[in-house]
Amino acid sequence: MLNIALFGPPGAGKGTQSEFLIRKYNLFYISTGDLLRKEMAGGTKLGLEAQSIIAAGGLVPDEVIVQVIENTITGNPGYNGFLFDGFPRNLVQAYILEGLMLKLHTSLNRLISLDVPEEVSVSRLLKRGLTSGRSDDNETVIRNRLREYAEKTRPVLQFYRDRGLCVELDGSAPIEDVRQRITAILSEELDKQLFNVVLFGYPGSGRGSQGRALARQYDLEYVATGPMLEEEIRRGTAIGRRVGALYDSGQLVPDEIVVPLIEKKLDDSKGVKGFIFKGYPRTLVQSYILDALLKKRGSSISRVVDIEVPMLELIARLDERSRTDRSMPYDTSTAKIVKRLQEHETKTVPVIRKYSQHHDVIAVDGRGSFDEVFARLSAVIEEGFRSMR
Ligand code: AMP
Repeated sequence: MLNIALFGPPGAGKGTQSEFLIRKYNLFYISTGDLLRKEMAGGTKLGLEAQSIIAAGGLVPDEVIVQVIENTITGNPGYNGFLFDGFPRNLVQAYILEGLMLKLHTSLNRLISLDVPEEVSVSRLLKRGLTSGRSDDNETVIRNRLREYAEKTRPVLQFYRDRGLCVELDGSAPIEDVRQRITAILSEELDKQLFNVVLFGYPGSGRGSQGRALARQYDLEYVATGPMLEEEIRRGTAIGRRVGALYDSGQLVPDEIVVPLIEKKLDDSKGVKGFIFKGYPRTLVQSYILDALLKKRGSSISRVVDIEVPMLELIARLDERSRTDRSMPYDTSTAKIVKRLQEHETKTVPVIRKYSQHHDVIAVDGRGSFDEVFARLSAVIEEGFRSMR
């Protein structure tokens, strides 16, 4: 997610820049000023409480601000993040924003401060007052609003400087220049965000070979639990010995072993653009664990892809593989092959169903040559990158 707050005195250009940014980055726009004006126009209790304060250029009580925001945010379906305009306006609101982001399991990426000299603010607002119809765009009230800003709002900058989140720009530069500077900052933020793909498919659908090839092509880290466990066995680690014993007795490897391995992989993979998860999550429990592991790192699943191949073709592919040197220990007999297909059907298909409630699960036709399927999957990944950036 991309969560941004635009900061600055009245007339700094926050509203003007917001219009462009919410469209370009598909952000949910929250302007506390607009929300309050809506409350006033609707004659609500909150609107009545705010009316005289706004008319005088003062700051509306935090209690009212929290309520208008709460009434607006109940999640952000379909958006890539939030753009706050005119909030936070004092230190208490900075803490409110932190709490709000935590509640939504996210955090503020950047506070962008547009600074303009007082006289520029005044002349811009007086000009706006000719057409805005806003009664607070007149000189006396404007001066009050600027005083409130200097006394109560500007000190909030230090809060964000201390957290390393603040970027300060010259808001008196031409609109287009400011826009470009902001766009550059947001692009940099987006570059830092991980692009995470969960790759599903029945055994034999090609998810392993495709997943590895996609990871190479798009600079993503390939996370496959099977090979990770095999590596532990090969290295003869304590985990490897436990896994080996479980394999020998035909038992599943418990999450207590798999989860720390995935966590370590996430932590060790510095500077990657994202991850491709293959063979994980395999159960509903594992899907909750993966969500939590990503959330803990400020990230989430970007794309869920399901490679579809008809059942008869899967059986034919697995049977053929079992007779080559690519044969896996688990596809040496018909009984074992059928067992794996059944496992996917009963345990993993419900996970795909669960994901389809929160994400678009993109079904990709897995029939045809490797290159044909790879081209279809690449199109999905590239579309994902585009919509994220
Ligand atoms: P704006 O549209 O951001 O210029 O806001 C217009 C007026 O609404 C301000 O002068 C304040 O009186 C009030 N207001 C807007 N946002 C806030 C806020 N976060 N906290 C307190 N008052 C606000």
